[in-house]
Amino acid sequence: MAIDIDRFLATVAAVVNGKQVPVVDLIAVQTEDPFKVLVATILSARTKDETTAAASARLFEVAPDLESLARLPETEIARLIYPVGFSKTKAKHLAMLPEALRSFGGKVPETIEELITLPGVGRKTANLVRTVAFRKPAICVDTHVHRIMNIWEYVRTDTPLKTEMALRAKLPEKHWLSVNSLLVAFGQSICRPVGPKCDICPLLPECPQKGVRPRKIPGVKMTKEHVMKCISWNVNGIRAVAKKGFADQLRTFDADVVALQETKIQEDQLTDELKNIPGYTSYWHCAERKGYSGVAFYTRIPPVAVRYGLGDPEFDCEGRVLTLEFADCYLINIYFPNSAEKLVRLAHKLRFNDRLLGYARELELKKPVILCGDFNVAHKEIDLKNPKTNVKNAGFTPEERAWMDSFVAAGFVDTFRLFCEDPDQYTWWSYRFNARAKNVGWRIDYFCVSGSAADRVRSATILCEVMGSDHCPVALEFVSEGVKSEKSGVRSEEFLVDSI
Ligand code: SF4
Repeated sequence: MAIDIDRFLATVAAVVNGKQVPVVDLIAVQTEDPFKVLVATILSARTKDETTAAASARLFEVAPDLESLARLPETEIARLIYPVGFSKTKAKHLAMLPEALRSFGGKVPETIEELITLPGVGRKTANLVRTVAFRKPAICVDTHVHRIMNIWEYVRTDTPLKTEMALRAKLPEKHWLSVNSLLVAFGQSICRPVGPKCDICPLLPECPQKGVRPRKIPGVKMTKEHVMKCISWNVNGIRAVAKKGFADQLRTFDADVVALQETKIQEDQLTDELKNIPGYTSYWHCAERKGYSGVAFYTRIPPVAVRYGLGDPEFDCEGRVLTLEFADCYLINIYFPNSAEKLVRLAHKLRFNDRLLGYARELELKKPVILCGDFNVAHKEIDLKNPKTNVKNAGFTPEERAWMDSFVAAGFVDTFRLFCEDPDQYTWWSYRFNARAKNVGWRIDYFCVSGSAADRVRSATILCEVMGSDHCPVALEFVSEGVKSEKSGVRSEEFLVDSI
């Protein structure tokens, strides 16, 4: 089956976000100087990015422009750029470069045909310089691009040049400038030439894996993914949904971890049936005020530790945050405050939001964080049916949306939008005006993850068919060592449960 190239490249972009940018792109961003991009590109052939970066820095220190390069003897160039691959040949080409550029008025030319007349500049380098330095349409086909496009069976070619020509005919032009950087970063980090990390690659379910031998991890069967299935659901009263068959619904979810919000129950009101559902251990953080707020977890993976609240009495008395620590991630269950009618709690909510973000970033220093729950905000216009009429209403104010912007800018990824950019995808509907039947709703329930863990997300969905509350559940599938640890025999007594 043919792959969906738009979706594949969007997934790759999410995966490599924050990973090392190829050095030539980096030099372009830092200097916007075609001369430096050209020189760095010549140096980068058959050389590791770190080596290219260091060699470029040493050379540009002494020869930041064409005139100063012209004054440098070839031996000195060779000394400065060592140990890049083929440093003597590259030094010779760089020594010839000032003279060669004179026929272009001392400027780096923009066309492929002109660029390939320069010493040391082949087609790949020319394409790279044209895209990176001049932002002009060209497709640079690095070995990673050639290799990965064939693994995906998007092209069937045996040389980079044939790949370039095939991509020119087939790849939508909007991808031409970015495809090289994306696939180089992806090819260096995940889809590596030797032992690609297919076990954690989000493209695995649809990737043709043509000619691929994935890496092997001792003791782990790589054909089977260790995927943790998580559900988050604002139940709007656990006792109400219990009467509608919550225990059966939990079994139907067949999830490893279920996070609930707005449980509206006190510890002493919890019945045995609610606390001890077979196969699961439950944890509860209840509000001091009766019948208000509250969050809970049901988990069949033993956590390493459990944390109650944010460690701040202003917020913790409302039972809004509960964290499970697993072997290789944290899962934070959050019921964000509602700004309320006339926005009387907006300031409180924004303080909570900032405290929560600080808490998540603190945890992130140790391992990736998954945040789920009712965020009580629709981030973008696409996330609610009637954006225009709700700009001054709780859940869609500029202040709440700006916080969500800052949350995303801090590196957290809204996982649902990794997979779906469609409108009309909601998780909450008012009980009034038959809103759910008409799908007049808001998407305010999320699974977000640290950017560094976006490549571990397998799916993110909205379970809009599940009834019982004014919210529907949302689901996440996430590759987790935590599941693996338990299945590989770590005894539950070894887990420590603490609280803050
Ligand atoms: S599944 Fe494997 S072969 Fe396919 S893109 Fe991912 S890492 Fe590469």
